[in-house]
Amino acid sequence: MILDMFSLKGKTAAVTGANTGLGQGIALAFAEAGAKVAVVGRSPMDETLGKIKSFGGDAFPIKADLADVAVCQRIVDETVGKFGGIDILVNNAGIIRRGDSIDFTEKDWDDVMNVNLKSLFFLSQAAARQFVKQGQGGKIINIASLLSYQGGIRIPSYTSAKSGVLGLTRLLANEWASKGICVNGIAPGYMVTNNTEALRNDPIRYKAILERIPAGRWGQPADLAGAAVFLASPASDYLHGFTIAVDGGWLGR
Ligand code: NAP
Repeated sequence: MILDMFSLKGKTAAVTGANTGLGQGIALAFAEAGAKVAVVGRSPMDETLGKIKSFGGDAFPIKADLADVAVCQRIVDETVGKFGGIDILVNNAGIIRRGDSIDFTEKDWDDVMNVNLKSLFFLSQAAARQFVKQGQGGKIINIASLLSYQGGIRIPSYTSAKSGVLGLTRLLANEWASKGICVNGIAPGYMVTNNTEALRNDPIRYKAILERIPAGRWGQPADLAGAAVFLASPASDYLHGFTIAVDGGWLGR
């Protein structure tokens, strides 16, 4: 039956940056769809674990700071150690630094590139090696951005990293589709999370952005649930290298 193809029952997922925001929303959606979820990040996962437990879901925290790629193999190993395997990886953790390009620092460049692009690649590599070992394929979902498609302003390292995520998603799909590994992305629009707090606190920018969103509202973490479960499930087995915008219509405007 078609709805069975969207089920994640019997699957194991790792979601980075799952303590809050979009990562938390995705982790909850996966657990609701039946997956066991390793919730990965540098901050305590208590809130996410509590929410998943409240509806009888199965989750397990992994403490890891993705500023250092050395944690990538451990994340996969701990997920496999706890749940016996890994089927789905969501590269969601990300940071943003704002500043005029004329003054932008090397630190603000490196910090963003390390978490948003470098660790995303090496964690994908560690997961893909495990998928190959398991012999059943797998799913990788990269969280991109509208800044994968547009330039933005005063966020040079973020735009560079997110544009890189879009290209890397295509490249990895080209290399790994034949191994049964689906690599795809989600480009969220303007969502209500910590990432956009500064923008939402600026009344002029907030109003200007809102007026440009065809759906007439900012997005919530739950708005990504459908696309994330779809890309993690067998329903998307022939979908490779594509980044789906969940943006209230922003890019179409
Ligand atoms: P958020 O609430 O700031 O969440 C970011 C997550 O990444 C947090 O869990 C954060 O952990 C984690 N993280 C950051 N640096 C990390 C590190 N070094 N190691 C491990 N985890 C780290 O923002 P969000 O909006 O949910 O962001 C999730 C993803 O969506 C990001 O990739 C972001 O770029 C992307 N995105 C967001 C929007 C939007 O409008 N909100 C739009 C497009 C794309 P801490 O809580 O410990 O910092």
